[in-house]
Amino acid sequence: MRKTARKTDPPGTVVVSARGAIRLRSGHPWVYRSDILSAGQVNPGALAPVTEANGKPLGSALYSTTSEIAVRMISDRTLAAEELGPLLRRRIREAIAYRRHIVGNSNAYRVIFSEADFLPGLIVDRYDDLLSVQILTQGMDQEAVRAVLLDELTSQFHPAGIVERVDERIRQLEQLPPRSSGLLSGEKTSTVFTMNGVRFQHDGLAGQKTGAFLDQRENYAATTRFARGEALDVFCYQGGFALHLAGVCARVTGVDSSRTALETADENAALNGREIEWIEANAFDLLREYSSAGRQYDTVVLDPPAFAKNRRTLETALRGYKELNLRALKMLRPGGTLITCSCSYHVGPTEFLEMLRAAAADAHRPVRILDNRTQSADHPVLLAVPETHYLKCAIASVG
Ligand code: SAH
Repeated sequence: MRKTARKTDPPGTVVVSARGAIRLRSGHPWVYRSDILSAGQVNPGALAPVTEANGKPLGSALYSTTSEIAVRMISDRTLAAEELGPLLRRRIREAIAYRRHIVGNSNAYRVIFSEADFLPGLIVDRYDDLLSVQILTQGMDQEAVRAVLLDELTSQFHPAGIVERVDERIRQLEQLPPRSSGLLSGEKTSTVFTMNGVRFQHDGLAGQKTGAFLDQRENYAATTRFARGEALDVFCYQGGFALHLAGVCARVTGVDSSRTALETADENAALNGREIEWIEANAFDLLREYSSAGRQYDTVVLDPPAFAKNRRTLETALRGYKELNLRALKMLRPGGTLITCSCSYHVGPTEFLEMLRAAAADAHRPVRILDNRTQSADHPVLLAVPETHYLKCAIASVG
């Protein structure tokens, strides 16, 4: 395979292999570096035309000189440089319009979900009057692109603050100059947002992800349809499920290994006038101890971190999920409700349900799936990009 530009390859153009072209035609916007034939004189992050080896145009991409994902398509047309800004603005407005249509009863949601909003490398979350931005690629990090994003977001939302959350590791991988998390505009970095009628503290510069697990928003609401009695929220973080459960359950206990997460969870409980018991513990140890002691619940939520970070760790991850689910099933009273989640993309929906079936068989408990769910609609799944479909959330009744 040829790796350097031929004299005939136009400078500033990315030429992809036949395999790369097939991938693009399938609707997937990425081409891996191994499928790049040449990219002579294409600058880091630049907008570049993409062609096949025979010169046939495939569209335009934002190019990364370092990432394994070298090409992220931005259009199936060959764009002139001055078309990029208006295109980005239009996509941002479309993403916002979509959320206005589908998000209800919440002033916190994902505004832009990268590839799924045709804005690869960009994530924007709204927490009431604050926006939280993550820039993940050379393309989105270009000064001119940043200026457009900031300007468009400001004119659409007039936020009290726009915070950038920086992932150091990603900046290193993309060989971008170091930056720290902080305000891009405005002065405010913390707020209180309301989701499904539940209030949450938000500190734009603290916590995991951009602060909250917005992808579970609709699952929180769905859970309240089925949950009741005594509830245990395992891997509760700042109390997303627990606070929702508190509205419908008689008693709620939340478990997490992070003390700082639990401190915020406790503030959130106070903010909503709820009494919730928080336990700082390793979930595996606690479930083992509680199930040996014969503790019983009517509702159990399992929302662990991603155990499978890649395909190699899939088997180990599935064993971890199975152990948790097995213990939870044993602790449920007959007729109880299990809400079980996995945010590992590498554990597909079929593998996830098969894991649950195996756990149910070992626990000798019949399990009926009442609601088989995924991430909330503000994190849309782009069918051609399986990576955008990562969250599983099954609500089950356990006989
Ligand atoms: N359910 C939460 C999100 C959970 S994220 C919500 O809806 O907001 C996963 C959580 O698991 C994190 O808060 C992390 O601190 C916690 N965690 C990771 N490993 C753990 C372990 N072994 N035991 C208990 N908690 C753990």
